[in-house]
Amino acid sequence: MSLFSAVEMAPRDPILGLNEQFAADTNPNKVNLGVGVYFDENGKLPLLQCVQAAEKALMDSPKPRGYLPIDGIAAYDNAVKKLVFGAESDVYKAGRIATVQGLGGTGGLKIGADFLRHLNPNAKVLISDPSWENHRALFTQAGFKVETYRYYNAGTRSLDFDGMLADLKAAAPGTVVVLHACCHNPTGYDITPAQWDQVIEVVKAGQLTPFLDMAYQGFANGIAEDGAVVGKFVATGMDFLVSTSFSKSFSLYGERVGALSVVCASKEEAAKVLSQLKIMIRTNYSNPPTHGGAVVALVLEDDKLRAQWEQELGAMRTRIKAMRQKLVEGLKAAGVKQDMGFITTQIGMFSYSGLSKDQMVRLRNEFGVYGTDSGRMCVAALNDKNIDYVCASIAKVM
Ligand code: PMP
Repeated sequence: MSLFSAVEMAPRDPILGLNEQFAADTNPNKVNLGVGVYFDENGKLPLLQCVQAAEKALMDSPKPRGYLPIDGIAAYDNAVKKLVFGAESDVYKAGRIATVQGLGGTGGLKIGADFLRHLNPNAKVLISDPSWENHRALFTQAGFKVETYRYYNAGTRSLDFDGMLADLKAAAPGTVVVLHACCHNPTGYDITPAQWDQVIEVVKAGQLTPFLDMAYQGFANGIAEDGAVVGKFVATGMDFLVSTSFSKSFSLYGERVGALSVVCASKEEAAKVLSQLKIMIRTNYSNPPTHGGAVVALVLEDDKLRAQWEQELGAMRTRIKAMRQKLVEGLKAAGVKQDMGFITTQIGMFSYSGLSKDQMVRLRNEFGVYGTDSGRMCVAALNDKNIDYVCASIAKVM
């Protein structure tokens, strides 16, 4: 008997497993719509101009790499607060936000999950049905019992907003509710501002703990527009959490840049919360890495680089929307009879195509077009060179 003889092989990560299969596929026409990554019009992962300029500036005055503070670069945390909450917001001015640099959005979520679990070990976590596949795993790993609230109705291919509200209303006080701030992953369906008002009312009345996952700020309607939902929560006076990811908005996936912000009732409370978040970080990885945070802080705080970033992010957003339109038109031209117009109602990187698992498997095996079994396709990986092939392939399996 060896020490690890009882260890079983864990299932492959569904998305990363798909990537491996894609890499091994010899079909010259293959297209990877599986992962949540933005590719430019040439099918390449972009390196943003603003990032290159910031990196050059950092290299021009090289600095030694000491340990960062546990909660990260102070200028970065401050820039995140201003981006997410607004420099003019009362919560920011009053010092009521505790923000820590995180290892991507995932890191922000996990620090928040660990913190909440310490605070209230018996609370349940509610995630949307469906949700980003790592939500359930991450909160379960943090020790929570994870359940779902209704969100998407596969039968009608639309939001089940009544179901969502009913499930939130039925939740016990203290329940942690994970909400996608914008660009819902995987469905691509966001609730409207008026529906947010209703959700917020229910969350507040039910004394639930809102945890906003903001992995795509700027990909729906604009940086400020997408951040408006945070302002709505602030306006209620509730305490809540927000995780931020810059993986997509800065195309800095591998640098692991993100954050967790906790809105507290007072400056004093925020200081105490921050001290506890630091323990979560210290005992996990001690302190975050320097490079990505330094780049993002510089871009967000420098007027010229900031303008460049907003323009580049806007171009990504616009290109995705154009691809949605072309997808709808292309499917029609390829002979799909069904109205696929819902693709342009969806927003962000993903489209829930409504295709069945069998159809997705056929797309993969017969045509080398990779999406997830759930029918999710990354619209941000489409371009003028691959869209006709993708449309023709989808038409053949429909
Ligand atoms: N939340 C959601 C909804 C996501 O889609 C993602 C990325 N796929 C994340 C969090 C994690 O982001 P990061 O890669 O920065 O950890």
